[in-house]
Amino acid sequence: MRFYQSTRNPMLKAVASKVVLQGLADDGGLYMLNDLEDLHLDVEDCLDLNYQQLATKILGLFLDDFTNEELADCVRNAYNGKFSNDEITPLVKVNDDYILELFHGPTSAFKDMALLLLPQLMQVALKKQELQDDILILTATSGDTGKAALEGFKNLDRIHIMVFYPDSGVSAIQKRQMMTQEGNNVGVCAIEGNFDDAQSAVKRIFTSEKLKEFAEEKHIQFSTANSINFGRLVPQIVYYYKAYIDLVHRGEIECGELVDFVVPTGNFGNILAGTFAKRLGLPVHKLVCASNSNHVLTDFMQTGLYDKRREFLKTTSPSMDILVSSNLERYLYMICDKDEKIVKRYMEDLQRQMYYQLSDDQLARLKEDFYAGYSNDEETLKTISSCFRQTGYLLDPHTAVGYKVCQQYKQESKTPYKKIVLATASPYKFVRSIGKSLGLESVDEFELMKQIASVTRTEIPVPLQILKNKEILHRNVIKTRSIDEYVKERIKVWQE
Ligand SMILES: *Cc1c(COP(=O)(O)O)cnc(C)c1O
Repeated sequence: MRFYQSTRNPMLKAVASKVVLQGLADDGGLYMLNDLEDLHLDVEDCLDLNYQQLATKILGLFLDDFTNEELADCVRNAYNGKFSNDEITPLVKVNDDYILELFHGPTSAFKDMALLLLPQLMQVALKKQELQDDILILTATSGDTGKAALEGFKNLDRIHIMVFYPDSGVSAIQKRQMMTQEGNNVGVCAIEGNFDDAQSAVKRIFTSEKLKEFAEEKHIQFSTANSINFGRLVPQIVYYYKAYIDLVHRGEIECGELVDFVVPTGNFGNILAGTFAKRLGLPVHKLVCASNSNHVLTDFMQTGLYDKRREFLKTTSPSMDILVSSNLERYLYMICDKDEKIVKRYMEDLQRQMYYQLSDDQLARLKEDFYAGYSNDEETLKTISSCFRQTGYLLDPHTAVGYKVCQQYKQESKTPYKKIVLATASPYKFVRSIGKSLGLESVDEFELMKQIASVTRTEIPVPLQILKNKEILHRNVIKTRSIDEYVKERIKVWQE
């Protein structure tokens, strides 16, 4: 049996099913596999697998206290019939590069890839760990995560979910996605204020002794679905393999040839899954870490200094607006020879003095895996319009950051390897920015959507198309301090 351990304390160990249920280790560290270097998956052995089979195989490597049947069931329940494209993650050639579209799930963002599967894994883990209590997932969201979590967890037995979003911090389309959410185990609530207000509201729940007592009486445990859960990382390894296999089948590469992946990065979950794929043996040359104007990671990868002493900027790629990328801690653990003392010191440095500095040796290792670059809003919007004019392909603002950095990387590195850019959202989720870069205007986002579709001759994803006429089911808008009351009320309603 494999053991996971906290990145900050080797004494805190857990098996996979416990890790999936628990999320964060008790000392605030992240669970990490302690024998990752023993895992291998030869891509040559995967060439005949479809997406579901490939996912089952990769999950089995990491989640070894689940049976193969359990994992195959989880994958089936998570993915079958949920994607608008049969290939699940189609690969599209745009000029000399490839765009890996990860947004054909129910919420039109790549978070679906992991958040459709995590709930299924949690449900099996509940039984395995013989947990008697039910689980309540609590999530604050700036847009993409909350909706994807709601879709993944809706109508499950023994797991409930509440999502809190900032009333004045999401787009009109994202707001409508939340307000129309269906499911007998969901709670959706707007918080007056911005994302920070929503996040501190959720923190209040976790730290409120009174609420904890109330929940215990009702046999409910709180948990989260955010991207530090290892169960969210594993499903993200799958599409790196899938993209590679597609290139082999199309005769674009020989099996064994190196490729580069470009990843629009925020919390470092997606790109970390890429480093796992590389460790498993997928022929990856570099992972290109693409950031927006909040380019802490670009600076870090170039200098080894992680420095959050800077202003937080709101950009046109909001899901990448972040100054502390939580999952980076797991990568540090890998390049520090699994020395938890060093990881712990860096994390304490970051907390206390707002920065830490890698050693030369650690930085050299990091540079073997990554190239880093960033694109500011002006460049990003320009990239959307120029890419569309030259190729007819419409990028969303997050993917455009990746595409821009990819071009920059090609000019600088001049490597011959094929480049695959991960497309993390549908452009129709971010119509204001798309409209701006194409010179289209309307006060109504749904009107703008139609204009974009007609000008670009691209299709609006069906779940977004039908949003406007869906019934509004959640109208709560509350102040942060009223959140206890809201949580209690919902729990009472569910248990009636
Ligand atoms: C979450 C998100 C990202 C960033 O992914 P990380 O795994 O947090 O690095 C990029 N683009 C979109 C559209 C997202 O929703």
